[in-house]
Amino acid sequence: MRHILLLGGTTEASMLATALAERGERAVLSYAGRTEAPRAQAIPTRIGGFGGVQGLADHLRRGGVTHLVDATHPFAARISANAIAAADLAGVKLLALTRPAWEACPGDHWIRVADTKGAVAALGMDPIRVFLALGRQTIGDFAEAPQHFYLLRFVDAAMPPALPRHHLVVDRGPFSLAGELALLREHRIEVIVAKNAGGAGARAKLDAARELGLPVVMIDRPFIPDRPQVGRVAQVLDWLDHGVVRGV
Ligand code: NAP
Repeated sequence: MRHILLLGGTTEASMLATALAERGERAVLSYAGRTEAPRAQAIPTRIGGFGGVQGLADHLRRGGVTHLVDATHPFAARISANAIAAADLAGVKLLALTRPAWEACPGDHWIRVADTKGAVAALGMDPIRVFLALGRQTIGDFAEAPQHFYLLRFVDAAMPPALPRHHLVVDRGPFSLAGELALLREHRIEVIVAKNAGGAGARAKLDAARELGLPVVMIDRPFIPDRPQVGRVAQVLDWLDHGVVRGV
């Protein structure tokens, strides 16, 4: 019987985990361990890093893994690169399940930057009110611009952020347009900083920005080496059954 290791931490991974459980597949979902209370899953889970490429390759071999599905976040570039190298070393089949990037629509005012340092620079010197729609790990760079007010939204309240002027909202998506409009208005936000994560659950803030005429500093996706990838859970199931990637 095939044995699937699913690298998760995303909505797509949770959706795939449910589909795999429904089919009675032998599968384990792996979390990095960044969140205090990860979602309950329909398949067994494991938590924590593998110890780089070699550690992941050993894990695949030891566990008799036959299929590795990388459904990590598009900004989780290190684990995705490791997955490519480790699958190759261990002779395991690999497929990535990734959401397409967002594209700017008419009426959007996006300032595209390569990384968080670029985003800090794009905010300028004058104090403004910023919605930092980024995970906890990436906000450290904004300590270099303490003059701004930052609205933050994390899935839990662990570890207070080291930003002198901030307000933290603890909430988990998906978010609605009405909710995002209310949040932006309540905190008199002037600019949003976001990663080009893609997907429906986090899109509402961009629609709200367009409606309010707010600029968005959009951080582009990091480089990930070429690999087979699909956008839908059904395509992963098809790949498991037939060994080919179809309908991309
Ligand atoms: P990263 O920089 O690519 O990975 C850093 C290290 O964390 C990896 O080298 C690996 O450690 C470990 N790791 C990452 N994902 C793992 C997984 N699913 N299972 C086991 N170990 C994992 O990743 P990141 O950006 O810190 O993201 C960490 C996790 O949060 C990912 O699972 C991702 O899907 C999720 N996430 C990330 C973002 C984001 O914006 N980056 C947003 C939402 C969710 P070892 O080298 O020791 O194996």
